[in-house]
Amino acid sequence: MTTPPPPAPTRILVLNSGSSSVKYQLLDMRNAARLAVGLVERIGEQTSRLVHTPLVDGGAGLRERTGPIADHEAALRAVAEELAADGLGLDSPELAAIGHRVVHGGLRFSAPTVVDDEVLAEIERLVPVAPLHNPANITGIRTARALRPDLPQVAVFDTAFHTTMPESAARYAIDVETADAHRIRRYGFHGTSHAYVSRETAKLLGKAPEDVNVIVLHLGNGASASAVAGGRCVDTSMGLTPLEGLVMGTRSGDVDPAVTFHLRRVAGMSTDDIDTLLNKKSGLVGLCGDNDMREIRRRIDEGDERARLAFDIYIHRLKKYIGAYYAVLGRVDAVVFTAGVGENAAPVRAAAVAGLEELGLALDSGLNEERSPHARIVSPPYARVAVAVVPTDEELEIARQAFALVSEDSLD
Ligand code: ADP
Repeated sequence: MTTPPPPAPTRILVLNSGSSSVKYQLLDMRNAARLAVGLVERIGEQTSRLVHTPLVDGGAGLRERTGPIADHEAALRAVAEELAADGLGLDSPELAAIGHRVVHGGLRFSAPTVVDDEVLAEIERLVPVAPLHNPANITGIRTARALRPDLPQVAVFDTAFHTTMPESAARYAIDVETADAHRIRRYGFHGTSHAYVSRETAKLLGKAPEDVNVIVLHLGNGASASAVAGGRCVDTSMGLTPLEGLVMGTRSGDVDPAVTFHLRRVAGMSTDDIDTLLNKKSGLVGLCGDNDMREIRRRIDEGDERARLAFDIYIHRLKKYIGAYYAVLGRVDAVVFTAGVGENAAPVRAAAVAGLEELGLALDSGLNEERSPHARIVSPPYARVAVAVVPTDEELEIARQAFALVSEDSLD
């Protein structure tokens, strides 16, 4: 009698490596169940911290390690130890792949990709257009490869979903030779979230993604809008970098580019100072000193004028993008809110769609105020355009994409 072959591996470890942090989740793709989640923060400092939560067998409760973790390699080794303590180690034959969030995939990567030396070199070539993000993502991939060289490492790109944008939306109206020489164009970000949320919205409407047009508003600390026609992105608000578009927690979003020349020539600021001003000290924080929408709402309730103005500027920009993407799409089936602000801040949703009845948008204020962790429609049944709240799940989407790719490969 021959013994049956071992079952195909079904687990995916998702890694999101930032400059000083690593977030991770281990998922079993048979039922999309989370087996463990965790975070290592302040890597490279004396006060590093690892928080690990196993979710198997009812979950044994959160475990925490504090004390210096020197670099990403040490961080990943510590994560591997924690997982091993729960019987979920990286050496498990059930692990099918490691899925890595990679922020910038440029024009080359329009789909998840198994990483080899050449792919890694290409991600490195993109560092000049993503200096804050790609280096950390590369470190994460290198470290994971060193720990499990035999395991497929799959890169899932934040930009990939937006590669379907037509040239009319993706190009800036600047000299073509200059733009091409420096790879200057609109790439868009948060693509994994826009892909997941637009697909889940179609499901919520009981339709196939090909049959619906959706405006997705991803409102977290970073924020972006996208216009998705029949499952394909046709426009998005972030551009060459995540600075363009909506008002964000600390980023300005759209400004006249001449503001930067003015700050150099008139205010005497350096390029780095301007970069910091627009990326870290602008948006809600620049306008009113707070970037947490909960705090801003609390201040507004107390009659704080600066908080009110910051909120109004945030909403005004959001409304402009809803209108713009309505025009880009021609017909809209749903406007969907997601991420920290979009999922939780009912007043933001109410203010963003207020006055848009002529466009077919309306809210049921009772449904809008209800708190729920589930995808839901918050517009009345008569509204021509559904308003929906769909919690995003970038880790699940990365795991799905990585698993689809490696299980396809294993069928070859
Ligand atoms: P990111 O992943 O971009 O860091 P998130 O999607 O987690 O951000 O969103 C974080 C933001 O969500 C916070 O800065 C805060 O403004 C907002 N937020 C979170 N919870 C609530 C809430 N209950 N009400 C209003 N805003 C909230």
